[in-house]
Amino acid sequence: MITKEKKFSKGNRGKKSQRDQRNWFQHISVILLSCAACIFSCVAMVSMAAPENPEIEAMMREKKAKEQEAVSDSAPDSASSAVAEAAVVKEEESSVPLIVIDPGHGGEDDGCLGDGVFEKDINLQIALLVKTRLEEKGFRVMLPRETDEYLAKEERVELANSYQADAYISIHQNTYEGSDKSVSGIETWYDGTDNTRDNQRLASLIHKETIKSTGANERELWPIADFCVTGKTLMPACLIETGFLSNPEECRKLSDKEYQNKIAEGIAQGIDLYFHPGTMYLTFDDGPSEEYTEQILDVLKEKDVKATFFLIGEYVEKYPQVAKRIADEGHTIGIHCYRHDYGVLYESVESYLEDFWKAYDTVFAITGVKAEMFRFPGGSVNAYNKDTCADIIKEMTAQGFIYFDWNASLEDTVKNPDTSKILANAAASTLNRKKVVMLAHDRVENTALCIGDLIDQFPEYEMKPLNTRIEPVRFRLPE
Ligand SMILES: [Zn+2]
Repeated sequence: MITKEKKFSKGNRGKKSQRDQRNWFQHISVILLSCAACIFSCVAMVSMAAPENPEIEAMMREKKAKEQEAVSDSAPDSASSAVAEAAVVKEEESSVPLIVIDPGHGGEDDGCLGDGVFEKDINLQIALLVKTRLEEKGFRVMLPRETDEYLAKEERVELANSYQADAYISIHQNTYEGSDKSVSGIETWYDGTDNTRDNQRLASLIHKETIKSTGANERELWPIADFCVTGKTLMPACLIETGFLSNPEECRKLSDKEYQNKIAEGIAQGIDLYFHPGTMYLTFDDGPSEEYTEQILDVLKEKDVKATFFLIGEYVEKYPQVAKRIADEGHTIGIHCYRHDYGVLYESVESYLEDFWKAYDTVFAITGVKAEMFRFPGGSVNAYNKDTCADIIKEMTAQGFIYFDWNASLEDTVKNPDTSKILANAAASTLNRKKVVMLAHDRVENTALCIGDLIDQFPEYEMKPLNTRIEPVRFRLPE
């Protein structure tokens, strides 16, 4: 039995006339859509439950084509009127992100099967819970289907595109096609070939937050999605498989409202972080170094991230081309010291200033940067400057310089950590703060080796360079 009536949720703001118009549009125009050329391409993963079902889709296309013929003479140009209507909706409420949460399958298309459970039903139950959470967080939400009905993948895409939605998330369940019933967990898919949309960050956040909220087994975050809904949507998009119906234990959980709530919480939190990220200031001390700074600069360039380098004067003299490259590539530069010798630096205000100005002049001569920011070796308060720090800070502040400490650290100079330890240190030290100043060292090989993974590890943060208008993070001075 085909459900012909389509109902569209536009958060709680849908107007009756618009709804009627949409129903009409859906009724007659479903096969005239521009992405008919979408091709399902099977990704060769044995565990993959195909989110798209070509046979059922072909059957439904044929059915709808027949219905279409019957009404075509009297039909207004409803596709364009729906798009025009969508533009008005978008205009009216453009400041509030519009999220399409799409429950996969529906109607004749059951999706995969668990023990007495249809994937299409679990998808819808979760999608409705995500909708509630997102609306509580202030988003506008649209579900392409809110009942058990068939909807072609092209219709789903057309809907998201015509409403100029700001993000699209498709919800699915998985099945393992081999005999192993123990396979479980969450995997998330996005189109990594389209750099015009931030699919990766959206997918990473939803993946990460849903694993966090459920405690489910973490499976892959795949950048190779080749589905119509991830490929033809014009906004950031991803597809999450929230569990395996082929695993009896996970199937039971996925049918449980409490567990569904955990999934919904994770998906909603991921979306919220996508639109409201924190800020991370990556800061590198003790450079430039000949090799590792260059490696780090290469990665920052590739990832289009700007950072801050607190330089050591004697190394700026030694590797002037590296120091120049830092400035040329748009990173901000601060002074660390001329020579990293705590005993001499912190002996007195005078000894500190002498070293500082030597570094300042060197950096200016070589990079042309008149540094306004600085970072104390060892931080503003350390074991070497208890007697002098207050006076040094007072004098440096009077001269107009601004110092920055940090509130998170790679601990990359402590006990020679390997890259996984460095990444773990970074993750553990952010403490979910909205503003993070991360300490790193561009003289450390393992830091250079993992800086790309480090950046990828924090999709919940926007990476920015420090500047003098930012309220600095600082250690507390001793009483
Ligand atoms: Zn240092």
